[in-house]
Amino acid sequence: MLWFAGYSRKALTENFINSINEVNRQQLFSFKRIFDLQFNTLELCARVITGLNSSDYLNTTADSEISEDLDLFTEKSPFEVMFINRNNGIAIASDGDVYDNNGYDFYENAIQGDNCVSQPLKSPISDDTVIVCTIPLYDKLGQIFAVLGGVININYLNSAMMVSYDGHGYSLVTSKTSNTIIAHTANTWPSEFENASFINLYASNNVIKRFNGNCIIYRLHDLLRYVVYVPTGYNDWVLATIVPESVLKSRLKQIRKGTAFTFLMNLFAFVCIITFLVFLQAKHSNEFARASNLDTVTNGITLKRFMEKLNPLFKNNRGKSFIAMCMDINEFRVINELYGFQAGNRLLYIVHKAVKNVIGIDGLVCRSANDLFYIIIKSDTDKNTIIAEKDSIIEEINRLLSKESTQYVLNFTFGIYPMQKVTEEPVHIFEKTNQVHNRAKKNNIPCEFYLQSEHEQVIRQKLIENSMQEAFENCEFKMFLQPKFELLSKRLVGAEALVRWESPTEGKRYPCDFIPLFEKNGFIIKIDLYMIEKACQTIRRWIDSGIEPIPISVNQSKVLLLNPLYYDVLINTVENYRIPPKYIELEITETIMYENTKVLNELIGKLKNYGFRIAVDDFGSGYSSLVLLRDIKADVLKIDKAFITRAEDDVSGKKILSGIIQLADSLNMIILAEGIETNEQADLLIRLGCREAQGFLFGKPVPEESFVRFQQAV
Ligand code: C2E
Ligand code: CA
Ligand code: CA
Repeated sequence: MLWFAGYSRKALTENFINSINEVNRQQLFSFKRIFDLQFNTLELCARVITGLNSSDYLNTTADSEISEDLDLFTEKSPFEVMFINRNNGIAIASDGDVYDNNGYDFYENAIQGDNCVSQPLKSPISDDTVIVCTIPLYDKLGQIFAVLGGVININYLNSAMMVSYDGHGYSLVTSKTSNTIIAHTANTWPSEFENASFINLYASNNVIKRFNGNCIIYRLHDLLRYVVYVPTGYNDWVLATIVPESVLKSRLKQIRKGTAFTFLMNLFAFVCIITFLVFLQAKHSNEFARASNLDTVTNGITLKRFMEKLNPLFKNNRGKSFIAMCMDINEFRVINELYGFQAGNRLLYIVHKAVKNVIGIDGLVCRSANDLFYIIIKSDTDKNTIIAEKDSIIEEINRLLSKESTQYVLNFTFGIYPMQKVTEEPVHIFEKTNQVHNRAKKNNIPCEFYLQSEHEQVIRQKLIENSMQEAFENCEFKMFLQPKFELLSKRLVGAEALVRWESPTEGKRYPCDFIPLFEKNGFIIKIDLYMIEKACQTIRRWIDSGIEPIPISVNQSKVLLLNPLYYDVLINTVENYRIPPKYIELEITETIMYENTKVLNELIGKLKNYGFRIAVDDFGSGYSSLVLLRDIKADVLKIDKAFITRAEDDVSGKKILSGIIQLADSLNMIILAEGIETNEQADLLIRLGCREAQGFLFGKPVPEESFVRFQQAV
């Protein structure tokens, strides 16, 4: 018994420290996200305000106008004030004032080329404490000519700090050498904590134990506290989560006291439930059967039912390929710790619902135990499709979660087994997913495949992520243009800009290798803006050399479209090159349109009013909603290659395609068919009334210099 008590205390303490670590990790994630957002805003603003790496703006614009421009951006950002610092140290601010920033780190560091987050400062305006974020501004020759900065109120940052463990635990950011910097406003910890530098705290005699992995036990006013800390990566700041030992003690007490009592209660409850179930079964045997097949937390089927359904599913789809997955939520118990069991159950319900939304009618999902889900999807098993399926599950979960009042940051671990043909019993299939899932957990990686080659893919992505910024600076990303033709007249009517990564070491890389990754890590914003700029430069060159311009379409990713500064950045770039907007077409994929429909409709309305052409891209790859077509009021409908192939294969495919063409026609949309490779496809499209086409039959994507060939041919 004594041994058990000692053992359970040790295990629980370990568990307790792990869970504080996880809370701290979640806090670090949201803390970093806030600063990423600040720097994204500054970078977007830099593009608009200074135009294209030009110092002319500062020389040719009156101070009052600069200040008005800045004010416009301040309104749309979390900054209180924004400013541009000339390289003499004098700043013009959005509030109309002029400041001398000479001697301040945030100016001195940025003018030397570093992005900077300042130490806390007193705001000269509000007397509040503020933090200043700055970036250098470069001119055409790559010289720094100014600094752009934003001032952020400490209260904004304070409100992002978490309270955990039912209000007993807190997270705060403290400097190694000075006082607490950011802390939740509702904090109630003793003032020693509030005003002590981390170094002092850590070195003090009050530390009674140090664990591996940045955890200490600290004594204060005879109270013990567990402190888990991690460097934030900004200045010398450390993020710490502090939880009193009383939380651990009360858990231990509960466990000890509760064991005997719980056993008796469970026995009693068990007998009651069995009696009740037998009674129910006798009375409503059908209803009981149905209920026992349902998981009450998710409202979905149980594991038993899931396994029963697999064989008939495979039998009806003989020879077809499937993906089997095992997925769990990382550190799910922390959610329970932080928000309680009810919130945890709600999350499981949402996750299940999201998976169901994604897997379609030929897919199955069940919660096997705790937060572990089994999934089967009828799908191709090539690596891109599998990753896309997994990503759409995560995306859908995040979409549903974003509607919740509490904002959760969830991470998942997947064990995936692709089957080109099902040849095994269901239990063996899920043994394999479990095996790779366990491996993923052990190695702390988000996704493990039953194929070694897939594992290599994950490593490849990491390598790409490490080299993308440098590649961008070295101009390795290139704009290629693919021609679009009018089918009947064979007239060149436009071009699509497609990005290529020409790496000196790896050779030419295609978008499917890096775009999905860039969409996840936000780098796509840089690429998309760069492509818009390249398209504008090309059109300007055509105009200047007397060539009749044709519209260039650019792909716009979701992350860019939903950025509040998107519209201004776009307009500014187009105006900088004095490009009539009718020459720029914005391609937005069909799937983005289902989410944020209202926001997007408004944005599209604004873009159209300004004069841009809007194209719905990849129509036919998602739900292919016709209602969407009516609501979105786009100018062009780009029909996905897969749709054309389907129409070639069977009569019903042909009928659907013809219906879509007619509907789009009646809505005055131009219909363009993508991926046309054969004359037969082109003839079929002409017969069905499709007006324009793009594909290898007419021309592959080529560098701008070679594109001139297409222009001269007409
Ligand atoms: P997308 O917008 O649907 O672009 C058309 C893709 O189909 C291009 O692939 C093009 O090379 C390919 N294609 C064109 N004609 C044919 C054909 O006859 N047969 C076949 N099999 N393929 C054809 P690419 O360039 O590899 O681009 C793939 C996707 O990557 C694009 O699909 C687009 O979604 C994305 N992408 C490319 N460039 C950018 C970019 O600058 N920004 C963003 N956000 N996405 C981009
Ligand atoms: Ca496209
Ligand atoms: Ca497309």
